[in-house]
Amino acid sequence: GQCRAVCPTGAIIIKNENHRVWEAVHDKSKRVIAQIAPAVRVALGEEFGLNPGEVTIGKIIAALKTIGVDEVYDTAFAADMTVIEESKEFVERLTSGEHLPLFTSCCPGWVKFAENKFPDIMDNISTCKSPQQMFGAVIKEYYKEVSKKEGKETVMISVMPCTAKKAEIAREEFQHEGMRDVDIVITTQELALLIKEAGIIFAQLEEEAFDMPFGLASGSGIIFGATGGVTEAVVTRLLKDKPDHSAKDVLFKNVRGMENLKEATFNVAGKEVKVAVVHGLKSTDELIKQIKAGERYYDFIEVMACPGGCIAGGGQPIPINTEMRKERAKGLYKLDRTSHIKSSEKNPLVLSLFENILKDNHELLHVHKK
Ligand code: SF4
Repeated sequence: GQCRAVCPTGAIIIKNENHRVWEAVHDKSKRVIAQIAPAVRVALGEEFGLNPGEVTIGKIIAALKTIGVDEVYDTAFAADMTVIEESKEFVERLTSGEHLPLFTSCCPGWVKFAENKFPDIMDNISTCKSPQQMFGAVIKEYYKEVSKKEGKETVMISVMPCTAKKAEIAREEFQHEGMRDVDIVITTQELALLIKEAGIIFAQLEEEAFDMPFGLASGSGIIFGATGGVTEAVVTRLLKDKPDHSAKDVLFKNVRGMENLKEATFNVAGKEVKVAVVHGLKSTDELIKQIKAGERYYDFIEVMACPGGCIAGGGQPIPINTEMRKERAKGLYKLDRTSHIKSSEKNPLVLSLFENILKDNHELLHVHKK
């Protein structure tokens, strides 16, 4: 039978897919790979009595390994690929002057909203797949030949803060040769349930590290989980002289934090560019109407459907309030500060991927609109 978790607010019934995870890890013909989104690591702990923002990534990896997942990777690694591709696209559009402003594409809640409400702006949305989808496509390609030889099937599981990510994997553009790039999405709440179902005592887990070669991310890839993070990552990538952390605190002050609409101007690619960061669909709706009315102008707009960004996604532990959003975001910025790699294009593993399997398969990273 199918297990179902009921949304405690009574608003929605979310399909719980933990049974599919159990089936996959018990099937010897499957290579089971998990990716973990940045926002999960600063919120899952709340399900086990820890404070919001407390980073539990080592224990999350250990829990997935205990459950039987073969390889555990970091979605922030794929976010580094997204940053590189999206900055390139942004510079191209600044040069041609076409399809500006460029809207971000990593939030499926926002993409669906735009499709329904503002279909005429779809050409302004980045062609970059979201990090979850880039990762799925790369993993399936990476294991294609080995899987054939070993007679194994690769199952890609995503641990996401987000219920919209479940719908994203089913979209037509994310299936290739009859295979989905990502097979199963479980939310942070479902992961907590999975850990409890397995009888694992979270507090007693010994921390582990991500697997290689997709387990290393820059700090930029990690802050994707908070509102303003994508903007900060893209701008950082485009800056020739990388600011140190105290300079970043000043430079990006206006794009961080929980205000509904944030604005900033940056000097990148030889131009002064106007940026807006918006989160929550009501604020997004208002902003787009003002842009259409000619009341505002921007070159780059980051949109996240959830107020606060993915740290407060629909699959994250509840209850949630502004203070907790700030604490979770703080957890991500702390990881950025302590990261060895300061900017996405400095990630050596991403660079090696670009030189190898992505050399002739660059289209794996983009949505090709028909
Ligand atoms: Fe999902 Fe919300 Fe993040 Fe959008 S902002 S990707 S809907 S969690």
